Amino acid sequence: MNNLNNLLHAASFAARCHTGQKRKGERGEPYINHPLEVANLIANVGGVHDIEILMAAILHDTVEDCGVTGEEISLMFGETVAGYVLEVTDDKSLPKMERKLLQIEHAPHLSPGAKTVKLADKISNITDITNSPPADWTIARRREYIEWGVSVVAGLRGVNEGLEAHFDSLVARARSLLES
Ligand code: ZN
Repeated sequence: MNNLNNLLHAASFAARCHTGQKRKGERGEPYINHPLEVANLIANVGGVHDIEILMAAILHDTVEDCGVTGEEISLMFGETVAGYVLEVTDDKSLPKMERKLLQIEHAPHLSPGAKTVKLADKISNITDITNSPPADWTIARRREYIEWGVSVVAGLRGVNEGLEAHFDSLVARARSLLES
């Protein structure tokens, strides 16, 4: 199979996995919008054309949110892709606060491919919190989320200038919107 076939296979698989799931923003977008946007940012803002990174971007939430295993991803899409996905997957057996702290601690130790996925993931999430926040999130909670994202991204720098610049301007805009 060529690269495009593999990419479409990953997109179709992720879409099926996320069936019925929605983003938590008030627009209630289908969940699949998020992994597709993460891959789109990596390709078209980051200028990355590494097929395994792009496939991992599309699949990055399937283990955490759909119960797919790393082994299944490895069998279907290869070990490298599965490795990236597992690197960006939180251990859901841990309490939420601990998982958030671990993301900050783990970020600098990720492989460059996983850092790229994680950086685009944070861009997509902060964009959504800025443009379509969950209805019950206060300004303080949104601010806190953005500052947590900034702390995680501090450990991801040095892999992709385009994505980092995009992240920085997004955060500047989000901060100024949440100030008033
Ligand atoms: Zn994600």
